[in-house]
Amino acid sequence: MTTPYTITRVGDAYHVSTEHVNWVLVEDGHDLTMIDGGYPANVTDVERSVREIGHQMGDVRAMLLTHAHVDHLGGLARLAATYDVDVWTGPVEVAHAHREYLQQLGPLQLPLLLWRHGAIAWLADIMRLGGTDREGVPQARAYPTAGLDLPGAPVPVPTPGHTDGHTAYHLPASGVLVSGDALITGHAVSRVNGPQLIPRGFSHDRRVTVDSLEEIAEVDAGTLFPGHGPPWSGSMREAAELARATANLARP
Ligand SMILES: [Zn+2]
Repeated sequence: MTTPYTITRVGDAYHVSTEHVNWVLVEDGHDLTMIDGGYPANVTDVERSVREIGHQMGDVRAMLLTHAHVDHLGGLARLAATYDVDVWTGPVEVAHAHREYLQQLGPLQLPLLLWRHGAIAWLADIMRLGGTDREGVPQARAYPTAGLDLPGAPVPVPTPGHTDGHTAYHLPASGVLVSGDALITGHAVSRVNGPQLIPRGFSHDRRVTVDSLEEIAEVDAGTLFPGHGPPWSGSMREAAELARATANLARP
């Protein structure tokens, strides 16, 4: 199965955007760091995107996970096993990545979303992409508190709320913030375009997600690479303010 994507390059960072989820590749000479890896069925799409920017999977030195939801972890789990690559995530997210617990809507909760615009088509698509897969990433480890020494020099920005251990990654050399699902710019079940919180119900703790917008606002970057929706240019403070406004407008 092939999923179409759009690749946007900013500095040494590549945002690979599909209709339902995104991942990021960071280039440092011959080496790459991969951030998230799409749904389980996106494995061949991730491999294709690596080739398209002139690399091979063997160039991937490490994989970073923003959070352990199946749309970010699924493809990464399979690729990490196939290519024997280190996987790092936030200290609090490790147990989630190991599937010691699951902070994600399950088959019983998903129907609660069906009142949303576009939700039935979205649900059919994510089933096809492996959205109910429960596989974890057993090799995931907590990134060291001293920081990461990886291609592209990503800097973790803890942004809990969407999941307890969610982490965004700042790429200072490229002026990019990879925000995962702490801040997105579009979603199949959202009518809003531009910086926003992920639709209510997808986040484990909405209030903490709103609090984490302040962590994002303080990042010095000019481009947002979100987990869902297209890249966005502007200050992170402006992105956070826009998201806060949509959060206030949203129904309780
Ligand atoms: Zn997501």
